[in-house]
Amino acid sequence: MLTIGCHLSSSKGYVSMGKTAVAIGANTFQFFTRNPRGAKAKDINPEDVKQFLTYAGSHGIEKILAHAPYTLNAASADPHVREFAWNTMADDLERMEYTPGNCYNFHPGSHVGQGAEAGIAYIADMLNHILKAEQRTTVLLETMSGKGSEVGRNFEELREILDRVDLSDHMGVCLDTCHVWDGGYDIVNDLDGVLNQFDRIIGLKRLKAIHLNDSQNPLGAHKDRHARIGEGYIGEEALKRVVTHPALRNLPFYLETPNELDGYAREIALMR
Ligand code: FE
Ligand code: FE
Ligand code: ZN
Repeated sequence: MLTIGCHLSSSKGYVSMGKTAVAIGANTFQFFTRNPRGAKAKDINPEDVKQFLTYAGSHGIEKILAHAPYTLNAASADPHVREFAWNTMADDLERMEYTPGNCYNFHPGSHVGQGAEAGIAYIADMLNHILKAEQRTTVLLETMSGKGSEVGRNFEELREILDRVDLSDHMGVCLDTCHVWDGGYDIVNDLDGVLNQFDRIIGLKRLKAIHLNDSQNPLGAHKDRHARIGEGYIGEEALKRVVTHPALRNLPFYLETPNELDGYAREIALMR
């Protein structure tokens, strides 16, 4: 059975997200650990988490995916920005231990002019300080579209980060279909070729989640503007090939399309 869900608001807690997911035909979901623009996180309510775990168990929700705030930039040249990234991720990973065995996704960051190599070194530095041998959360690097000075614009840059992380057993990758398409990987005409490249450079065993989005821009545009399924340049048929591909179909899929809940429910049904 396809594991698919969408991004949900976390403002009312875990039980609320679980019930919303079930109501729209999802069996997983993604959520921000805090305000995406980077405010302080609300305290975890252990009772809410406990009830959620029971609810999830009885409703077939197996995997959930947390997303770090967009403001987290471990690749910044500014030590204050890096410090915010370190503190935020360390706090998020502590909170993730309330729901063990899930994944935490983050944007590697933007090097803002100092060059990808310097950015990559900073990102690995953060991970080497924050990851703990005993943690039960897998931290995912998201594939990026390469807009501005984003790090993670190609598979090689993600591989370089992974190579520098000591506890890389706790690391994986989340592939965003809009981002890789905008980054120049032709998943419409050559999905097998792109996955072969991913396997050769990073290794498919590292691939833990898929962000399932159409794109408002053509191949290689380096823009990152998500479209609804079938309303962009990737198209419905290509995205159906993504969810049914033998190398991908057992992964969890997360829609981040511009939709309200009814639109998400339709896209989930379409993909099922
Ligand atoms: Fe993202
Ligand atoms: Fe994404
Ligand atoms: Zn995006």
